[in-house]
Formats: sequence, C-alpha cells, structure tokens
Amino acid sequence: VSSREISEENQLDKLVGQIEGWAHEAGFQQVGISDVDMQNEQSRLRAWLDKRYHGSMRWMEKHADKRLQPELLHPGTLRIISLRMNYLPENTEPVKVLKSPEKAYVSRYALGRDYHKLIRKRLANIAKKIETEASAIYADLKISQRPFVDSAPVLERPAAHKAGLGWIGKHTLLINENAGSFFFLGEIFTNLPLPLNRKKPQNLCGDCRACLQICPTDAFPEPYVLDARRCISYLTIENPGPIPEEFRQVMGNRVFGCDDCQVICPWNKPANFTLEDDFQPRHGLESQELLELFRWDEATYLALTEGSAIRRIGYEGWLRNLAVGLGNAAPDEKIQQALREKRPNVSPLVAEHIDWALAQQQNPRRRRIRKLRREPIDRTRG
Ligand code: SF4
Repeated sequence: VSSREISEENQLDKLVGQIEGWAHEAGFQQVGISDVDMQNEQSRLRAWLDKRYHGSMRWMEKHADKRLQPELLHPGTLRIISLRMNYLPENTEPVKVLKSPEKAYVSRYALGRDYHKLIRKRLANIAKKIETEASAIYADLKISQRPFVDSAPVLERPAAHKAGLGWIGKHTLLINENAGSFFFLGEIFTNLPLPLNRKKPQNLCGDCRACLQICPTDAFPEPYVLDARRCISYLTIENPGPIPEEFRQVMGNRVFGCDDCQVICPWNKPANFTLEDDFQPRHGLESQELLELFRWDEATYLALTEGSAIRRIGYEGWLRNLAVGLGNAAPDEKIQQALREKRPNVSPLVAEHIDWALAQQQNPRRRRIRKLRREPIDRTRG
C-alpha cells in the first residue's frame, strides 16, 4: 500500500466525519454509507413482483434492474450515502384521531409540506460540499453524485440497513433502535470510494407480531412481505381506481395513508418528533372533521394542499377517500345531506363511493364490520 493510498484513506475517513457534520446541520438525524451490491434482494424483489403484490405500481416492475443495480440508475456509482430525517410532529395523537370516526386520519408524514423538495434540496447541498472537499483529494477524478428521495428506483431500505441506519421490520419499514420508524430516507449516490459502514444493525423484532396483527386489511401475507394491493396507503394514495368494497369498512376514517403498523410498533414508544417547521400540520389536518374536508370545493382543495403530498391524489381521489370515511362515520343527517348535495357534480368514480357511503349511513345492518378472509381478491391479477 503506497503512502499516497494511505493518505487518500485518511482523507476519506475525515470526509466521512465532515459528511456527518453537514448532515446534522441540515437536519438529518443519522447518515451511513453502503456499497451498491443489492443482489441479496434479488429473489425477494422478483418473488414480490411475480405475486403481483405491487398492484398497479407498474414502475416497480419496469425499473427492477435499476433497483438491483444502482450503477444502472446513476453510472459510476460506488457508494450510497443514506440519511434519515424524523417527520412525526409532536401532539398529533394518532390513536385519538383513529378512535374518532367523525375525524379524518391523514398519515402523519403528510400533515405538513411535501418532504420531497425539502430533502432533495438539502441532499444536493451536502453533495456539493462533498464534491468541493473531494476534489482536493482526487485532482483527476470527475466526481459524479446524485441525490434521491423516494422518487426513483432505489432500494432505500436495504441500502439504509447496510449503511447502519436500522433493520427492516416485519412491517417492511426501516426501524432504528433509538429512533423508531417515523422518518424519511434520502440517498446520495456517489462515485467516491468512501469507507463503508461495517456493522449491519441486528433485527430486534424478535417474537413480536404486533404490526402484522393490527393491520386493518390484513396486508401482510407473511412477515417482511407487504401485499400493497391490500395496504390502505396504496388503496388511498397509489390506486387510481375504485377502492375495493371489501376494504371500505375496515378503512374506517383513514383517508390518506395509514400508520397503524408504525403506531403499534414498540420501537416507536416513545416516538421521536421532528423539529422541522415544514413538517408541522397545516390547516388542522391532524384532526380535521371529515365533513369539513368533504365540503372543500376543488379550488379550496387546490389552495389548501399546495406544496403538500396530498396533492398527489387529486381532488377526485380526495373525495373518493373522504366518501368512504363518511360512510364509516356514525349515521348523521348532516353527513347524508352533504353526500347527496355533492353527488350530482362528481365523477362516476366518486359517485359510486358516495352511493356506498349513503347506503352505509342509512342501513345500520350493513355497518357490521366483517372479519376479512385471507384471500378475498384474485392475487394473480394486478
Ligand atoms: S411491531 Fe413488532 S414485529 Fe412489527 S416491526 Fe415493530 S417490533 Fe417488528
């Protein structure tokens, strides 16, 4: 080993310390570095896709190779720098809202501003600092880096696990021993040969099955496997079509995503809260009345969800989900009137959900929640 290589190694070690400092300054709670070898994930990912568990998320299929070979996504990538940032706002009392059927439950990550822009910007700043510093180490290397946050085919959880940020729980999310799971992940792909995290965190789920048992739609066919087609997050956010009737009653008041598997997880007690202003709830969305939200017209929806992840489902998806929530609320003449008033001016998709909600509201016998059977849908179809 030449003295030049030793000096490079020392400088890269120092650079990792600097990256940690910049990450903390930028509001990330933890950072780690992994290689790009994702081959261990191949059989799991292929089996998941073969079973059509990704539903209508065709991009999962289309970009599987890029997920498994990060260097195809960004040529030259040698390392993935993974970072995590807490998002749970304090005092948003998820369980209390879930137990209030007249309120709307919005997944806690979506209460404030959309995280994509904020995190991408901060990752880009860190990448710039890395580039400046690294060009002094490698005078002849063209440094090539790219930040990602949840919008590209990146196996972010396996990468973060390898980087030392936590283990993948039975609910398929990453859990950190000290911080639970209410955090976003972001990555910087880099062609710098940064030193790797040496110790993958041990899986501490043990005998616990709380997340699998609490799931309202029974979306885990087995531990560590999620059938997205049954997951309320998928049904209310990714799914552009009707919500299958068999899931509507058990959705309760969850109108944008679902956090049940995280809320029940013992590693989230006590929860770690975010300090970011941008992630604080806007427009009282942490415990807003279903009826109030349903009364928003499209202009109000567009104005009040500007810069929010809720924009993603559009006004039609919003009304569809709220109609299901209202169908599950206690029978109330005001709710029924609002449903009837809105019906003439909505799409056939929303109208069908409104009809379902009115039938629920008017016929208490339909309201008994039946226990879901394991195989109510054809699993071979998307
Ligand atoms: S609830 Fe239990 S099984 Fe599920 S992720 Fe948390 S510790 Fe693991």
